[in-house]
Amino acid sequence: MRMYDVITKKKHGEALTDAEIRFFVEGFTHGTIPDYQISSLMMAICLCGMNDEETAILTDAITHSGDTLDLSRFGTLSVDKHSTGGVGDKTTLVVAPLVAAAGARVAKMSGRGLGHTGGTVDKLESFAGFRTTLSADEFLSQVDQIGIAVIGQSGELAPADKKLYALRDVTATVDSIPLITSSIMGKKLAAGSHSIVLDVKYGSGGFMKTPEDAERLARAMVTIGTALGRNVAALITNMDAPLGLGIGNIIEVEEAREVLRGRGPADLREVCLSLATMMLHLSLGLTKENARALAEQTLASGAADRKFNEWIAAQGGDPTVPLPRAAHTLDVRADRDGYLAHVNAESVGVASVTLGGGRITKADEIDYTAGIILHKKVGETVKSGDLLATLYTTEKESALTAARDAVLRAITLSDAAPDPIPLIYKIITKECLDA
Ligand code: URA
Repeated sequence: MRMYDVITKKKHGEALTDAEIRFFVEGFTHGTIPDYQISSLMMAICLCGMNDEETAILTDAITHSGDTLDLSRFGTLSVDKHSTGGVGDKTTLVVAPLVAAAGARVAKMSGRGLGHTGGTVDKLESFAGFRTTLSADEFLSQVDQIGIAVIGQSGELAPADKKLYALRDVTATVDSIPLITSSIMGKKLAAGSHSIVLDVKYGSGGFMKTPEDAERLARAMVTIGTALGRNVAALITNMDAPLGLGIGNIIEVEEAREVLRGRGPADLREVCLSLATMMLHLSLGLTKENARALAEQTLASGAADRKFNEWIAAQGGDPTVPLPRAAHTLDVRADRDGYLAHVNAESVGVASVTLGGGRITKADEIDYTAGIILHKKVGETVKSGDLLATLYTTEKESALTAARDAVLRAITLSDAAPDPIPLIYKIITKECLDA
């Protein structure tokens, strides 16, 4: 088989065969097909698409490009969640211990921050000593003992996705529904959980800018996961403004702990409870009503908070030690009266990165204290001089003024109250695929 012919076929909009798809995935993973030919094929897929069958084969080829985790010892109790990425998205820190405390098993691989979006692994490393690399045995026995373990992405798991994603990132070929579907589901299927709940974000801070595109992506992922034998559901949630009020690693850990203690911003709490409800519905086989009641009770009783502490301690962190505070802060104030009409999540995410909260190059060290706390939610009234946000940094004091200007530009104040945007636009389960 010649790669040239595979590219030509897709360029003419024809469907690729099982053998052709596996040929290019294997060849690229093992270095026998060069970057430039894969880039060309990725662009042809972006422009001409892939049908459901091709997408399923590509997903399966990515899943089997490296190791796969065997979680069969947990039966149907293993459950994973995946967010398509956002700003202020600290839901895993709440949801994972919550569902583990309620009886599910969470054996999860999480990512680091990417571009303007944060990553769970970086947030967890806010706890000095927290280990995000565990051997397979340690990982599985921790899940056996306390119901939860979260580690960073292993290089051996879905290596094809790692290479494809890095290439797509620099060749303007990320925003293709079949490619995103196979990338996310390829990884999640390799990670082995029986049930998978997807949080598909839409809006200024998400990959999908409109709810319609997010729904297309959600349906594609639920279709593939279901066809490949997993219990999958997707929540389509708003990422037009940051979730909650805090952005940045320690800031987000503290906010997640507020939710675990029954406090915290209402939007964050609601997204966490909705995700946890779906995870408990799929993994424990409860009705949605009973799963919601169990999720609320596990939060209210303090069991989720205790599980969080147990989890952090099991992986080497000390949850009783106060996390460090930033050395430098700067307030951002309103210069007029009005309503908070919009907060551009992507711009706020970028401002947090410039304060040290994320990496600009892969080699950058993170300042865990850095980030932004917003003081108002979209729709609230604002008076001139009111505090809109506070910026935090220890390492990048010189970036504070530019970050303040960027946050001011990201915030729109209006004379009239903005139309509310639903927090959860839709839930896609396998039952609604034919609808
Ligand atoms: N997240 C992924 O893991 N892959 C994509 O292609 C896009 C978002």
